[in-house]
Amino acid sequence: MNRFVYLDNSATTPVKPEVLEVMLPYLKDEYGNPSSIYKKAAASSAAVSKAREQVAAALGAESNEIFFTACGTEADNWAIKGAAFANQQKGKHIISSQIEHHAVLHSLEYLEKQGFSVTYLPVDKEGRVNPEDLKNAITDETILVTIMMANNEVGTIEPIAELAKIAHEKKVLFHTDAVQAVGSVPVDVKALDVDMLSLSAHKFGGPKGVGALYIKKGTKIDTFMHGGAQERNRRAGTENVAGIAGLGEAITLATKNLPDKIKRLETLRNKLIDGVLKTIPDSHVNGSLTDRLPGNANFCFRYIEGEALLLRLDAKGVAASSGSACTSGSLDPSHVLLALGLPHEVAHGSLRLSIGEQNTEEDIDYVLEILPGIVQILRMMSPLFPGN
Ligand code: PLP
Repeated sequence: MNRFVYLDNSATTPVKPEVLEVMLPYLKDEYGNPSSIYKKAAASSAAVSKAREQVAAALGAESNEIFFTACGTEADNWAIKGAAFANQQKGKHIISSQIEHHAVLHSLEYLEKQGFSVTYLPVDKEGRVNPEDLKNAITDETILVTIMMANNEVGTIEPIAELAKIAHEKKVLFHTDAVQAVGSVPVDVKALDVDMLSLSAHKFGGPKGVGALYIKKGTKIDTFMHGGAQERNRRAGTENVAGIAGLGEAITLATKNLPDKIKRLETLRNKLIDGVLKTIPDSHVNGSLTDRLPGNANFCFRYIEGEALLLRLDAKGVAASSGSACTSGSLDPSHVLLALGLPHEVAHGSLRLSIGEQNTEEDIDYVLEILPGIVQILRMMSPLFPGN
């Protein structure tokens, strides 16, 4: 029997048992609507308040600066569109990067259709935005900079504090999509000095379908979800109480003993990277080897297709991901790998293995045992492989 090895923790993580425990009462007996005033609703309302404090404590924010959303995507949409519409009298120019998640890129494309203009900063071959490029791109019309804290494909960590400082020197708002960073690396909104920051529970041991947006006190941003008076009149919709309680517990657990967890994940990741580079010819690591999420390993294997690799890994019990957007029916290579300067044919053969807290050294050993053979078989079948 094959073992099962889950190495797609950047896509989502398993809900931790302690998180599920905290959530269950709100899916059973404690079903009161947090907005109701009778006693039955008090537990739900208290759960939402507690989670808000837990998120604030994890990020170094005030609890009234935390707003719950339905996901990281909503937090990104709200931050970007809300800030754009609230500040458009000052100007209609926004700056971002070429390697953002589609939650950001597609929000920006929507704004371009509404008459905003967007500059997409390039990145170097490791995926880093150059602060000088940001300095040069800011104009009198610029109202918002949105640059991700850590990239979801290649794991590169951006110099957010430095970039936010440049934006603030020109009195421009700064948002960061920290969906991949929160729970994986230290994130302190005061140290980073960002105005808005997005996160999502399912990336760090919490449930799917709940996220949060940090909005620094005094930041001008329009409401995105209109309706009831929830979230202090700023985000309508009856709260996902169980999800929010789970998010609070998950962020507390994920940020506890973070330096030790980082060290452990980096050890596993380095073993994986070293093992792959040593045993598979014509393999290459994408992204930075220094400023990188501790659990991220992203490779390109020349002459093969990422999708074929994924299917064969799946058959051997390994769940991983590829940069190519095969699920959307498109065979285009990843926009992130192209922005790093990889040629199309190389970007097609990418593999992301993202390690999580539950992974063990045996998991890494198993991948190192099966991966070289799979790559070799696919290369023997590839018309691109020299000699075939
Ligand atoms: N931003 C980044 C960097 C992500 O990796 C993801 C999810 O993959 C999102 C945003 C979207 O988060 P959610 O799945 O909660 O909508």
